[in-house]
Amino acid sequence: MTVTILCVEDEAAIQQLMDLALRRAGFDVALAADVTQARAAIASRRPDLILLDWMLPQVSGLEFARQLKQDGETRDVPIIMVTACGEESDKIRGLDSGADDYVTKPFSPRELVARINAVLRRAAPHAAEEVMEVQGLRLDASSHRITAGGDELNMGPTEFRLLHFFMSHAERVYSRGQLLDRVWGGDVYVEERTVDVHIRRLRKALSLHGHDRFIQTVRGAGYRFSTQG
Ligand code: CA
Repeated sequence: MTVTILCVEDEAAIQQLMDLALRRAGFDVALAADVTQARAAIASRRPDLILLDWMLPQVSGLEFARQLKQDGETRDVPIIMVTACGEESDKIRGLDSGADDYVTKPFSPRELVARINAVLRRAAPHAAEEVMEVQGLRLDASSHRITAGGDELNMGPTEFRLLHFFMSHAERVYSRGQLLDRVWGGDVYVEERTVDVHIRRLRKALSLHGHDRFIQTVRGAGYRFSTQG
């Protein structure tokens, strides 16, 4: 199966560089120089990943990432933000907008391809997985069942979606804003502290066999599903 990468980049030289590097790595490449072209490209063929320049004419890459993550059609398409600025605060803003990773210019073709492969590995195999199991905690997406050590756990639909998201995106920290975008969806207005309430409920539901330890608070950053530490 060929993987299609959509590159949204207005600088022709960098677009060319990306195009070449990605084709060499065996990807199908779609190119767009602005958000309008990107929308057209997505409509004609849904990409497997979007490489998105931060500084674009008219609509910024940051704003476009937000829009993509709020749209049910494109929510699950991973985004790697590309930017010239390497400030830590920019990185956080980029990831907050829903981007899955971040590449700073100038980058080597090898680094770019490695980042893309890492994000695809994280995103793809789990998205289609119906049953996930981690150390006795088992989630069956098709029957909406969660068991721990064979015992069925009861939880609300939001807790279920939250756990499903966490198990599909393990070992990564998500801010409350990101969780709202990815789990609740962008169309509802929910306060960030709502996330804390559902995290508490989820932990309580998971505590039967101690699996609540997987839901970890990362101070100043958010939450993470991790089987380590
Ligand atoms: Ca640019």
